[in-house]
Amino acid sequence: AITETDYIWMNGAFKPWHECTVHVLAHGLHYGSAVFEGIRCYDTPDGPYTFRMADHMKRMHHSGRVYGIDILYSTEVLMEASRALLRKNDLRSAYLRPIAFKGYGDIGVAALNSPIEVVIAAFPWGAYLGDEGLRDGIDVCVSSWNRLAPNTVPPGLKAAGNYLSSQLISQEAKARGFAEGIGLGTDGLVSEGAGENLFLVHNGALYTPPTAASILSGITRDTVVTLARHMGYTVVEQTIPREMLYIADEMFFTGTAAEVTPIRSVDRFAVGNGERPITRAIQDAFFGLFDGRTQDHWGWLEPVGTE
Ligand code: PMP
Repeated sequence: AITETDYIWMNGAFKPWHECTVHVLAHGLHYGSAVFEGIRCYDTPDGPYTFRMADHMKRMHHSGRVYGIDILYSTEVLMEASRALLRKNDLRSAYLRPIAFKGYGDIGVAALNSPIEVVIAAFPWGAYLGDEGLRDGIDVCVSSWNRLAPNTVPPGLKAAGNYLSSQLISQEAKARGFAEGIGLGTDGLVSEGAGENLFLVHNGALYTPPTAASILSGITRDTVVTLARHMGYTVVEQTIPREMLYIADEMFFTGTAAEVTPIRSVDRFAVGNGERPITRAIQDAFFGLFDGRTQDHWGWLEPVGTE
């Protein structure tokens, strides 16, 4: 269940959590016409800092642009509203969920004149795939459902409708006793998890599917690619055939919610010999950004600050 906080920012104003409702005939509810983001705020030794918020807000604007969901608030305004929301709710560590959607007014599919509602919520949210998963790794499967094909519902945008595919993959995985599912593209090549990007280690190098492989170009994926190269690892963005999953030495998921979560088995094949030196080094570098062990050379962290 979601942990409620006091306020939500809705269309420019802070409102009490329970007053932030929409009409049952809102367009986004019927047709998936919403674009959103997930952003984390970490409680660092220097106080609460948001992580790559500008990149997330920019991606939400880009997603909205393609769907005709015009977000009237600039990324700067959304960022300032997010910081103010975190302060108002007294949150030090949180998950932020900005969303923009076609609201109530037009029930036609195109709904070119729908009002666009913009909302930001912030609430506490721990490890998406569990603290145990972060430490010991998770068991995953390859889904019988393929991921979205390019030129259909674009997988590179973060739109609500994409998560129907994610729900099929994730629900099937859980029903079969796995923590999460991996989707293959319609070309049969590896794409991503239901809500995570995928990396594997092969002969000491890191591999991840390219942005053309029916994936969301994750901001955590970019963070890991950047950190890994900075640490001297070779990172190869290339198409990954399914069988490579079963012979990888190490494997992990990345995502804002999932952070860096090791994978210990795929379709009941144990990953490597169970040791994860490279995954561990990447996890240390990633989580080190938030406890001061890793220097932020890239300007990814921004203080929530005081009023
Ligand atoms: N793929 C999908 C389908 C996702 O939902 C997410 C989570 N936003 C990711 C990848 C990871 O993206 P990010 O690192 O930007 O959170």
